[in-house]
Amino acid sequence: MAMKKCPNCGAEIPEEATRCYNCKEWIQNINNTPVDNPPEFLATLLFAWFLGCFGVHRFYTGNIPIGVAQLLTLGGCGIWSYIDLILICFNKFKDGKGRYFKDYSPNIGITVFVISLIPIGLILLLVFCIFLAVIIPGAAS
Ligand SMILES: [Zn+2]
Repeated sequence: MAMKKCPNCGAEIPEEATRCYNCKEWIQNINNTPVDNPPEFLATLLFAWFLGCFGVHRFYTGNIPIGVAQLLTLGGCGIWSYIDLILICFNKFKDGKGRYFKDYSPNIGITVFVISLIPIGLILLLVFCIFLAVIIPGAAS
């Protein structure tokens, strides 16, 4: 098998490899044209956070049909797009070609996930208070 050296770490890898086994770096192909890199983690995360209801993170990561579906349903009333955000936060999100992020940062992912729980916690608290006010008159006033 023909071998080449990884330009990043110098490990011997098969000629046709598109990703180094050693340092996980994506390798430019033989024709020296850049490989089609996976979408950037942070950009996808920001799209999902601010524009998730419009499926922008799905368009950005090359998953156009799901992006259109999310656009038409407003991110499945926000639930679908929120599930996507969680998947992105924990690097379980695949792009249109079935690849994970190569620049995933667990610190950023988990921090954003925790921050995202705050508004949901407030909404649940509000619903709970309304529930109390309806079921037990006078309890929440
Ligand atoms: Zn390498």
